[in-house]
Amino acid sequence: MKIFCYAVSKLEEPYVLNWAKKNNVEVKMIEAELSSKNAHLAEGYDGVSSEGITPVDESVYAEFEKFGIKQLAIRQVGVDNQDLDAARRHGITLTNVAAYSPRAIAEMGVTQAMYLLRKIGVYQDRMSQGDFTWDESTISTEIFNCTIGLVGVGHIGGATAQIYSALGAKVLAYDLAYDASLEPYVTYTDLDTVLSQSDIISLHTPLFPSTRNMIGAKEFKKMKSNAILINVARGELVDTKALIDALQNHEIGAAGLDTLADEIDFFGMNKQPKELPEDYQVLNAMPNVLVTPHIAFFTKLAIRNSMEIALDDAKKIIEGGKSRNTVN
Ligand code: NAD
Repeated sequence: MKIFCYAVSKLEEPYVLNWAKKNNVEVKMIEAELSSKNAHLAEGYDGVSSEGITPVDESVYAEFEKFGIKQLAIRQVGVDNQDLDAARRHGITLTNVAAYSPRAIAEMGVTQAMYLLRKIGVYQDRMSQGDFTWDESTISTEIFNCTIGLVGVGHIGGATAQIYSALGAKVLAYDLAYDASLEPYVTYTDLDTVLSQSDIISLHTPLFPSTRNMIGAKEFKKMKSNAILINVARGELVDTKALIDALQNHEIGAAGLDTLADEIDFFGMNKQPKELPEDYQVLNAMPNVLVTPHIAFFTKLAIRNSMEIALDDAKKIIEGGKSRNTVN
């Protein structure tokens, strides 16, 4: 069996080689993400895997179909960059890795929230000017005195709920689905209650047409003026312009963003500061905003699991089996 693996970094190579040896599969790796420009490289292989960060169009699935390839194993949770129906039309079974390490993402969200809660960025900004003072505007609160509002409590939101709960915070949750196993950690409620009562609002829903811009001007107006918004899910869940307005008008207190809309143009790349989009530059200049380049997932466990789970699924489907991680 031969698998073509796109978007493999130097760091990931050992995990792939180890899996290949253990499973007696030949794996060819390249660093470039899968796109319509390099789909042809998979000719002669039985299966394919890619990270799934870059959007692909139908031509990619059509090319795979031509080569007799029956699957594409995506190595991340979100499949919003894939056209699920088009893949199905071309006989391509798409799989994702639904839970490579929910704790990795949850811990990043909590870390950002704690950083902002204790106003570390504000102090760093002051100290860089030689100002080592503190005052009423920088006084903080303990996490166990906070109400946390989680929007979406699946794998990552659920893990986040457990961490905040262990820290002694009151945790409110809004989700379309109910999960009884989270009862010890959360109080389920409606979105309006989450928005209006929470000191920290953390987003954990996938990006769907129904969740795009789910946090916009109207929602910011419902939040507490000291609320901290955390987005470690997808940038497009938040209307970025409305977020900037809300921060500038002091409708909310702070924001931690591991994802930004349009991040595909610059996250993961080494750019000159002047090449960066204006909204990023505005946000990054605010001491009460923390932006990280979509690295909440980036832990050793997550890297190993996402690689191994995706390759296991590819192998299963090539051999005619089914994967419970099928998304289309
Ligand atoms: P999941 O599918 O386990 O959970 C998502 C939850 O959102 C589900 O419980 C679902 O019912 C709920 N939901 C869906 N639509 C909703 C809506 N309109 N309102 C309220 N709740 C809604 O997914 P997960 O593993 O927890 O991941 C969540 C998202 O996190 C992923 O889709 C991905 O976009 C993002 N993510 C980011 C990183 C990162 O590195 N920053 C890494 C992995 C995942």
